[in-house]
Amino acid sequence: MSMSFEIGQVYNRREDLHGHYGGQEQGGISTPADHPLIFLFTGASGSEYGYEDEFRPDGTFWYTGEGQVGDMSMDRGNRAIRDHAADGRELHLFEAVGNGEVRYVGKASYLTHHWEERRDANDNLRRAIVFELAVDPRSEESSDVAEPNAEYVTRRRLQNRSLEELRQLALQRASPSASASERRIVVRQRSQAIRAYVMKRASGVCEGCAKEAPFVTSQGRPYLEAHHVSRVSDGGPDHPRWVIALCPSCHRRVHHGQNGEEYNARLTKSLGEMESNEDA
Ligand SMILES: [Zn+2]
Repeated sequence: MSMSFEIGQVYNRREDLHGHYGGQEQGGISTPADHPLIFLFTGASGSEYGYEDEFRPDGTFWYTGEGQVGDMSMDRGNRAIRDHAADGRELHLFEAVGNGEVRYVGKASYLTHHWEERRDANDNLRRAIVFELAVDPRSEESSDVAEPNAEYVTRRRLQNRSLEELRQLALQRASPSASASERRIVVRQRSQAIRAYVMKRASGVCEGCAKEAPFVTSQGRPYLEAHHVSRVSDGGPDHPRWVIALCPSCHRRVHHGQNGEEYNARLTKSLGEMESNEDA
């Protein structure tokens, strides 16, 4: 049986998905028993329970785990996501578009997860699992861009651009009439451009502690991580001035350090200073 879904295509969740594959018809994570796949559903309705799924500036998708009340735990659907590769199951991400219909976003894979304080259905703070997923760029390109290696080619091209050119690319906007999938492409292009811009701006030195990148990647580039200093509400990267290149240690410090928020505020301030010349 073919398990290929077409990106951007709208499906009736109950008939087209559960009718063919089975799986729980309610909730965000559905694990059909007789097929090696897992359906993930994201959508506006979840946000009332503190579900703030979104594409991040680095192109990953953050997906909130299941469990509406109390601390989440790494079992059932949540464990299924974490272990999908080892279990040989594919993750397929859909976004709700209303009336029981969902639009296919793409094939996803688990990268890692972290825990966040979020509000539950009773408005109490609890520990929530946030999965960091890669959404397969190849399937997106095959239907939207029609160039098999576009992602790779784009990345190579970006590395050769000047700082100013990258900045312009990073600021491009989708037209207001663009469809969700067109907007997603612009978000992806912007996120790549912002990343390339920030890495070029840092030129191998952590913008937090001013130490050199801890190692060189297999592609021969200094290893630094892009960190977004403020939360993005629209699911896309907004501006290079909110993204900073950090060594892994500084990046962890922001998220897990005792004074992480304070440190993040300091980074935000120094980013503002770094970028102030560019705003003329
Ligand atoms: Zn650092």
